[in-house]
Amino acid sequence: MRFSRLLIPTTKETPNDATLASHIFLIRGGFIQSVGGSGLYNFLPLGKKVLDKVRAVVKEELDKAGCQEVSLSFVTPASLWQESGRFEKYGKELLRFKDRKNNDFILGPTHEEMMVNLVRQTVKSYKQLPLNLYQINLKFRDEIRPRFGLMRGREFLMKDGYSFHTSQEDMKREFDLMEETYKKIFTRLGLEFKVVEADSGAIGGSGSKEFMVLADSGEDTIVVCDNCEYGANIEAAVRQEKPCDAEAPEALFAKFHTPDTTTIEALSAFFHVDPYYLVKTVAKKALYDEGRTEVVLFALRGSDELQEVKACNAVGANDLADISEEELEAAGLVAGYMGPTVVPEGVRVVLDSNLRDASNMICGANEKEYHLVGNSFKGVEADYHDLVAVQEGDLCPHCGSPLRYTKGIEAGHIFQLGTQYSEPMGATFLDENGKAQPMVMGTYGIGVSRLLAAIIEQNHDDKGCIWTKASAPFDLQLIVSNIKDEAQVALGEELYETLKAKGFDVLFDERKDRFGAKMKDYELLGVPHAIVIGKKLQDGLVEFVTREGLVKEEVSPDEILTVVE
Ligand code: ATP
Ligand code: MG
Ligand code: MG
Ligand code: MG
Repeated sequence: MRFSRLLIPTTKETPNDATLASHIFLIRGGFIQSVGGSGLYNFLPLGKKVLDKVRAVVKEELDKAGCQEVSLSFVTPASLWQESGRFEKYGKELLRFKDRKNNDFILGPTHEEMMVNLVRQTVKSYKQLPLNLYQINLKFRDEIRPRFGLMRGREFLMKDGYSFHTSQEDMKREFDLMEETYKKIFTRLGLEFKVVEADSGAIGGSGSKEFMVLADSGEDTIVVCDNCEYGANIEAAVRQEKPCDAEAPEALFAKFHTPDTTTIEALSAFFHVDPYYLVKTVAKKALYDEGRTEVVLFALRGSDELQEVKACNAVGANDLADISEEELEAAGLVAGYMGPTVVPEGVRVVLDSNLRDASNMICGANEKEYHLVGNSFKGVEADYHDLVAVQEGDLCPHCGSPLRYTKGIEAGHIFQLGTQYSEPMGATFLDENGKAQPMVMGTYGIGVSRLLAAIIEQNHDDKGCIWTKASAPFDLQLIVSNIKDEAQVALGEELYETLKAKGFDVLFDERKDRFGAKMKDYELLGVPHAIVIGKKLQDGLVEFVTREGLVKEEVSPDEILTVVE
């Protein structure tokens, strides 16, 4: 394509709100355009091209693994989410609205309900299973703090896949296949990544795995081993400290406990966990458990978890609505808590591990439940342990080598779901004996638009983007440095046609601009290679540039084809 004909609005201006390289360069390179600065983006021609390339890699590998692409309605009737119980529980990330007939709808932040609804209407027999359906489509999450450009948008492109099985074993087989498929996808995209355990306690010991693109700017802390494959999200990697005195929790609890109130201090002391982990766990529980848990206790000041805590509010315990975000922000970014929080008489706090994340942090008591009845804990029997996050230098559970911390960008997440949605929504199949059984599900996500940001976080320098081969908007940029030089232009046109005919996707910079400005744009856009036709043409030479390291090589125009291949 000819540069002069393309809409590539490059700029020197760094957007005010941008701190990450990917955010800055994707905007400055004219790949994307912010819409009102609130986590919404337009994709301009180059951005759309990269997005389509990434999407194509994802699609190719999934199709090879036997998955089938569908496209689900983005607008979702609330009734489906009422069936699963998530409509009330999901919290403020869920955008709810009404149509003219006063019916409730949502914009899908994830599509478990939609897909279960599709499958329950079409699949009746074990003979039709297993099935793995996916889409690459828009999602909307009203993120409390959209930021970092495509990294955390409110509207974003996700590949979301859902598999349906007759048994737990078959679902596990598919889960492993998806892990391998995701590895192929991220490898093809040229990314350095790590598969980490995101939940060590749940179903069958390997409930959920995240795919972390390694980058200092990543929002997640992960523990990794340099000697083996092991890696875990710090949220899931906990170690048991010494068993603690069985009397101690009771005594601590009594200290904070008054006849009328139970404070978060009491709970965290009682369970011997960091209050931060406690609220996270309870919050997640309230979100995902089917109505058993009805209490959430406090908000972390200025923390990202606030959103989730507020979400739990919807479950009905504790009204935080009158505490403004500004007030929380004003209190600084230190993790603290709003308290004391009253746990109403008769409310049960149930902490067990039958949920997605983090519950195994509670005293390491995966199998146990703690019930708060009235104002005291009953039925409680457990070995109490202090649990803390795994530290750097702790030994890897697989090979015994020391672990270290690093940062990652969550680019994918796969999960063994079980019957959490199929049961309440009645997605059943008839087994070989004609008996109705709930389908066993897995779910698999990739942040396709986030991947653009992740690729640039891992591949850039101070001048701009350095796209990997599979993600680059073009294979080659062909630059004529002086458009007034007829010989340069003639060779440019000739090479442009030859390279196109050979199947290369070429960006032909034949603009009138100064050579310096064209090179600046080349560096900013980050196409893997450039051919520069300049003064040296008098000596029968052109320059072959590699964007990574800006390495330059002089070659004769006849040799160009062998160099680029
Ligand atoms: P995060 O922890 O970053 O908020 P998540 O755990 O909420 O992500 P999932 O529900 O696991 O996200 O969704 C699957 C994938 O979608 C994530 O692994 C991530 O790559 C992508 N994703 C999630 N939220 C966003 C967002 N706000 N903007 C862009 N991509 C996102
Ligand atoms: Mg999230
Ligand atoms: Mg996450
Ligand atoms: Mg996730």
